[in-house]
Amino acid sequence: MVDMLSHHPISTSVILHNASLSFESYAEQYANDDEFNEIYAKLTHCSQVDNYHLWGKLLYHLRKLCIPTGERVHVICEAHTSLVSGYFGFEKTLCHVQGFCFWPHMKNILTRYVKDCVMCFVSNPSNRKLGLHTPLPISSHPWESVLMDFVGGLPLSRKSHDYVCRR
Ligand SMILES: [Zn+2]
Repeated sequence: MVDMLSHHPISTSVILHNASLSFESYAEQYANDDEFNEIYAKLTHCSQVDNYHLWGKLLYHLRKLCIPTGERVHVICEAHTSLVSGYFGFEKTLCHVQGFCFWPHMKNILTRYVKDCVMCFVSNPSNRKLGLHTPLPISSHPWESVLMDFVGGLPLSRKSHDYVCRR
């Protein structure tokens, strides 16, 4: 069975589709990119550059799509976010991006992105500020209201239970 949580289908087509970009847009950006402009110019004028090649108008480094500076945040965002399981941590995000993409010093921008991610910060339970305890109104007669509390994510019991329910 396919592991839906670990599978993250980021690829060249996903990148271009989700960023609403075209091959033309990437080509323009390579030409003006501090890191790729010289390599791109050489390859478009039929010179060889070690480890780089063109496929159509797209630039590849060792079969990985070169991402122009202006597009890197979109790519990281795509790789960092999962519709199924929320937000991936640094290692998993890096793994997704490295699988299909290339740019120099990838780890630096990725580290900053994940560290500054507001959604990760907010969804981390240790960063949540709890409000004051607000007591419920006192019932006037039995069974007027029924409440249940669930506490979960506990270490497994001998019977493999990890939630506690209190009525
Ligand atoms: Zn995040």
